[in-house]
Amino acid sequence: MTYPETVNLPFNRASLRDAFQPLPPDTPDNGEPGFLVIIQGGDLVISLQDAPPLLPWGVFPPWVETESRFMVGLWKGEPLRVGRVARSAVLPANFSAEPLNAYSHRLDDQLLTLGGIGRNLLSWDQESAHCPRCGEAMVRHTGSWGKRCNSCKMERFPPTYPCAIVLVRRGDEFLLGRKAIWPEGRYSLIAGFLDSGESLEECAVREVREETGIEITNLRYVGSQSWPFPSQIMAGFVADYAGGEVTAGDEELEDVRWFTAASPPALPSKRSIARWIIDRYALNIETA
Ligand SMILES: [Zn+2]
Repeated sequence: MTYPETVNLPFNRASLRDAFQPLPPDTPDNGEPGFLVIIQGGDLVISLQDAPPLLPWGVFPPWVETESRFMVGLWKGEPLRVGRVARSAVLPANFSAEPLNAYSHRLDDQLLTLGGIGRNLLSWDQESAHCPRCGEAMVRHTGSWGKRCNSCKMERFPPTYPCAIVLVRRGDEFLLGRKAIWPEGRYSLIAGFLDSGESLEECAVREVREETGIEITNLRYVGSQSWPFPSQIMAGFVADYAGGEVTAGDEELEDVRWFTAASPPALPSKRSIARWIIDRYALNIETA
């Protein structure tokens, strides 16, 4: 099976190669020391005793909350567990909470991906504590990450929210937009969440229309990236301009404009599918 190269981007499980072996939920935990994915807010806790930094090793220390501890698989043949520490907790010396995102300088691709798995599962566990229908406690299924309500028997499973992300090209030009909260000068692709009853292709067309005012054609899927903040999947597309004038600045984007490969703006991280698409389909750069 040949996958798009995007499969190797961080946050996608394939970036862990053979070093990660997922285990079925509820696999008995023998309590042996192992690697620890500890999440604090949106950050990943790393051990500074190692250079480069690594996941903490051992059994869960007392400052990790006793609820929401999971065994998720094997990492390099050793148990891999996920846990959470309170946002307000002060970490012991030799530990650091690193922002878990594609711009991290301290977290390599594997740490980003393992941290993403941890953040996603912890978020699910927290938001599914109580039944959305009757408010009673939800309990885990055996052999699944799903849960069932003790009272009304409603079942829920970890959600993933799809987003379409689109590069639009017009001759030598490509269309990018920027959000006001981004660092000055940075632009990226047009993106947005799937609406009820939409295909990903319809979502791509609608988002471009809503955010830029233009119409697109010749839409092609080019790959996807898990985006665990906490539960998105980004579906990447490339399209050609079909008509309309750019109307910059809706409530989501403060500016939208055409660029050329000769003078691109500041761009998103090379560890994001946005940049992967821009490099290959706008700048014609073939990088790893
Ligand atoms: Zn219920």
